[in-house]
Amino acid sequence: EGASPPRRVSILGATGSIGRSTLDILRHAGPGAVEVVALTGRDNIAGLAEAAREFRAEVAVTADPSRYEDLKAALAGSGVEAAAGERAVIEAAARPADWTMAAIVGSAGLAPTLAALRQGRTLALANKECLVSAGGLFIEEAARAGAELLPVDSEHNAIFQVLDRPNRAAVEKILLTASGGPFRDWPAERIAEATPEEAVAHPNWDMGAKISIDSASMFNKGLEMIEAMHLFALRPDQVEVLVHPQSIVHSMVAYVDGAVLAQMGAPDMRHAIGHAFHHPARAPLPVERLDLAAIGALEFRAPDPVRFPALRLAREAMEAGGLAGCALNAAKEAALEAFMDRRLPFMGMAQVVEEVLSALSPFAPAGSLDDVFAMDALARAAAGERIAARIRASGLGKGAAFA
Ligand code: NAD
Ligand code: MG
Repeated sequence: EGASPPRRVSILGATGSIGRSTLDILRHAGPGAVEVVALTGRDNIAGLAEAAREFRAEVAVTADPSRYEDLKAALAGSGVEAAAGERAVIEAAARPADWTMAAIVGSAGLAPTLAALRQGRTLALANKECLVSAGGLFIEEAARAGAELLPVDSEHNAIFQVLDRPNRAAVEKILLTASGGPFRDWPAERIAEATPEEAVAHPNWDMGAKISIDSASMFNKGLEMIEAMHLFALRPDQVEVLVHPQSIVHSMVAYVDGAVLAQMGAPDMRHAIGHAFHHPARAPLPVERLDLAAIGALEFRAPDPVRFPALRLAREAMEAGGLAGCALNAAKEAALEAFMDRRLPFMGMAQVVEEVLSALSPFAPAGSLDDVFAMDALARAAAGERIAARIRASGLGKGAAFA
């Protein structure tokens, strides 16, 4: 204690919701506990520079090359190096660090996260798209590099915590809990007309815009099903989703003897981030303590496959295997952007994803990250065509908006 050298830490996506919560965990780790290597972001230059100054980072990187001068100016006199562009983010991820948080949103996180993984150190993985799009590759690379992969998505972190490792073969299935999002109790007609403002307002968790909308459509849970299959080497039929409105039980593991082990906590991502930071130790975390007597009751119910087709699509992608997860995620990201721009109605997202999956199937396995990027581009283009065709068919023409 005390005499141990500081841990070298990097955060990819330091300006986002997970990134800022990670900085908070570092603040609570105490003086001298960490040495910050790289912090990366994209648009929020002031926030990036402020965090880099506070933690005396070695380097701060924006993914947007046009923001280089802004970042350099914001870091003037701080001694923090400034860099910009996609390559610079990947290079920063490859700088030696003992613990890296991978929290870039979307498939933009693939290459930087892989660069961090290849260091063979500890990778705290928040970006779920890495496992959804390239699960097989990531798991293989982690083993090859000798990296420790710690899940930060709250459900997967919960499963990691209650996984009885010596009895790994006795796992019957996992139960991924889902809050059900803001539309959990809405009728189908109202969901069909939901606006981006309604979709972004999550009842329990405070998250980035994209993942909040994915929670409303339950695509987030669909991505998490695929993520869990890869992380814990499960068959598709061993992954089940359970709606749990209180978000207190973060997920469960059911064993062959009928035992079900659950992990509980307040809905605060600093639980999972802090767990991954201190693992294998447990340390005090700045999170609310559970008052189960005050909460009183925990509810569980089966998800509705009609109002939330994302779960069925994810299961189909799991069963199809290979690059199906990549196609699902890329089509979903394109559809999500169209929904956010009001070019696609809410239920149009699942319809576009379903059309793209059936148009592109069957799916080959991914041999390399290039195969993943090729499928990602193909599925995005296919989704774009379908979105454009729907706009033409609706007679609204270019620039028209739904909702
Ligand atoms: P966010 O939108 O709040 O932050 C995203 C971060 O990625 C920012 O730092 C941003 O600058 C950076 N970024 C965005 N586009 C980029 C690009 N093209 N290149 C490089 N960097 C880019 O997102 P978030 O909610 O913090 O989520 C981050 C990841 O963690 C996502 O994959 C999400 O699914 C996952 N996750 C988030 C939560 C949560 O509670 N927020 C929970 C579980 C998993
Ligand atoms: Mg989650």
